[in-house]
Amino acid sequence: AVDLTGVHKWYGEFHVLKDINLTVRRGERIVICGPSGSGKSTMIRCINRLEEHQQGKIVVDGIELTNDLKKIDEIRREVGMVFQHFNLFPHLTILENCTLAPIWVKKMPKKDAEEVAMHYLKRVRIPEQALKYPGQLSGGQQQRVAIARALCMSPKIMLFDEPTSALDPEMVKEVLDTMVGLAEEGMTMLCVTHEMGFARQVANRVIFMDFGQIIEMNEPNEFFSHPQHERTKLFLSQIL
Ligand code: ATP
Ligand code: MG
Repeated sequence: AVDLTGVHKWYGEFHVLKDINLTVRRGERIVICGPSGSGKSTMIRCINRLEEHQQGKIVVDGIELTNDLKKIDEIRREVGMVFQHFNLFPHLTILENCTLAPIWVKKMPKKDAEEVAMHYLKRVRIPEQALKYPGQLSGGQQQRVAIARALCMSPKIMLFDEPTSALDPEMVKEVLDTMVGLAEEGMTMLCVTHEMGFARQVANRVIFMDFGQIIEMNEPNEFFSHPQHERTKLFLSQIL
């Protein structure tokens, strides 16, 4: 479903992504970990063109990412993204946050969009919050809204960038449970996270990045019990 081939990216002089090769098949769940500044966010942001790569090829569901704005739009419709800091619109209600893109991007009638939104708000178990504003919800609740909002566009792929790292510990579980549910339903997922319990539970593969490169990639059991590279071992010893 997603193919990165020989992808390079620079921020000015700084070589942030170096020869990234990665294929994510439909229904696969991939967890990406690695030290701060290793390029994890940059890599997944390239997949929906929040960042632009300068070399190599990125293909999402058969569509190659180029400067063609129509293609970028098409890809963004298929790819849902959840950020560390929720990024909800503070002046819109929860329901409005969830219906905005379906109404404006998908041209869905408002009533239908609201029905879809309520469906997903039920799925993340907060339908009763629909008419509140983001500021009135807990962090865990806001993050579940962000997940519901992304799902309202019926994405084929979900990207997560440290969705639990801004949350108080007691709220991490409710968000992870939501993500596990999505995984069990077969959603294709690419998750930057240091929640290694989640990785063990749902990932098909775990990727370790450092200095803009994929250093190691393996299925979770092997990855955790027999890390191949010194840097992976060191990293795991620091976070486990
Ligand atoms: P973290 O775990 O802290 O989120 P990360 O692995 O997600 O780190 P990135 O955010 O992808 O790392 O950043 C990779 C490198 O690129 C860092 O050294 C960062 O300082 C640099 N960088 C990120 N965004 C920009 C930008 N807009 N302009 C210049 N440099 C940037
Ligand atoms: Mg990051």
